[in-house]
Amino acid sequence: MQLLDGKVLAKAIKAELKEQVAGYLAQGRRKPHLCAILVGEDGASKTYVASKARDCDELGMDSSVLHFPADIRQEELLAEIEKVNNNPAIDGLIVQMPVPKHIDSLLVMNTIDPSKDVDGFHPVNVGKMFKGLPTYLPATPYGIMMMLERYQIETAGKHCVVIGRSDIVGKPMAALLMQNTYPGNCTVTICHSRTADLAEHCRRADIVIAALGKPGFVKADMVKEGAVVIDVGITRVDADNERGYVIKGDVEFDEVAPKSSFITPVPGGVGLMTRIGLLQNTLNAYKVHEGIQ
Ligand code: NAD
Repeated sequence: MQLLDGKVLAKAIKAELKEQVAGYLAQGRRKPHLCAILVGEDGASKTYVASKARDCDELGMDSSVLHFPADIRQEELLAEIEKVNNNPAIDGLIVQMPVPKHIDSLLVMNTIDPSKDVDGFHPVNVGKMFKGLPTYLPATPYGIMMMLERYQIETAGKHCVVIGRSDIVGKPMAALLMQNTYPGNCTVTICHSRTADLAEHCRRADIVIAALGKPGFVKADMVKEGAVVIDVGITRVDADNERGYVIKGDVEFDEVAPKSSFITPVPGGVGLMTRIGLLQNTLNAYKVHEGIQ
């Protein structure tokens, strides 16, 4: 069993991205700039946005946070998005989800200029991804693709089972792994809450990607000997420690790890690669806007 170490990999890729950014600045170019829109006071959302800003800072990129009260009117929020769309100094825009209920999140995503949509949620970018055209890939599947590539994991002809069909993880993950690329060329099965005989599907998988948000769902008897196991799950589970909780993945790591060829830990796996996915998208957006090949 080999650990797919998000910590080590994220650190290495960050160093590469930092060097690229420094190179562009040395050419006299402006800094890449990621803007995050935050609506309301949700604690987890604030933490995510702060960590994205810290990551940008670490790489020598600019970032800004536009923080609006939870009762902002929808038209006002859309107007703020348009302002960012029209600001040539900003390369990437993310609107931290979830937004309050009175705001139509689909409309929000559709208002972001596709060339600045570094979350890869705009239907134009989703369509491009499905067609295999260059675009911004949703950060989590993008981070997983980088992980598979960097660890040189064989994917062609492999049977991959993706558990979960969300727009941000399951669906794009399946779409990417079926493309005629590396990583890719997998035969993909998508399992979800209504799948019959889910364990049986998993047992046939060479690669299992668990993204359902049920701690410890994937057990040893659901995994084939030698499978590659990618755990996307992040759930806070009550615990008797200082913080009052621990983070658990969707895979029962201790029992699944001995059977697997490669496995991601939680924490220290996919979560860190997701942050890399966003940074890489921001740099890609910068290159598009600056006309860099
Ligand atoms: P979601 O709730 O939008 O989707 C969950 C999916 O799992 C649904 O499609 C549902 O059909 C499926 N599902 C639910 N129960 C199931 C069951 N018993 N059997 C089979 N399928 C079932 O979740 P999401 O946003 O895709 O996130 C999934 C998990 O990944 C969560 O724990 C989330 O916190 C985590 N996540 C982690 C990262 C990261 O960076 N590591 C990023 C995004 C999400």
